[in-house]
Amino acid sequence: MSETPADWTQADWTQADWTQGDWTNGVEVIRYQACTACGKVQYFRRNFCAACGANELADKRASGEGIVYATSLVARAATPETRAHVPYNIVLVDTAEGFRMMAHGDRDLAIGDRVNARFAPFAGRLVPYFGRLKF
Ligand SMILES: [Zn+2]
Repeated sequence: MSETPADWTQADWTQADWTQGDWTNGVEVIRYQACTACGKVQYFRRNFCAACGANELADKRASGEGIVYATSLVARAATPETRAHVPYNIVLVDTAEGFRMMAHGDRDLAIGDRVNARFAPFAGRLVPYFGRLKF
């Protein structure tokens, strides 16, 4: 099954409409929310700010840049669909925008590495995939 990702370049990202898409529905975009009351950012979409409870949240598009906080090589497939990918690396990345996200990444990544995201197929869907920033 393959779907053509929506064309996010045509979207008006100043509008707080999460339904325009991100990587979870095939659009190569990492999105997050910023609280307009306290300024905190959060990755998991909620209808309220996890820090102050306000419900005025702005949807934003992340740059994809960050620093590796943790890395973990998965050697045992959790599902039959992921078996073909084993072993694969799961990383926690502290993004430039200030939220922490879990994603896939190169196997040679180490804590503290500066990385940026691209998107790669995994078990039939598109997922954020981090590689070391080249200088
Ligand atoms: Zn807040």
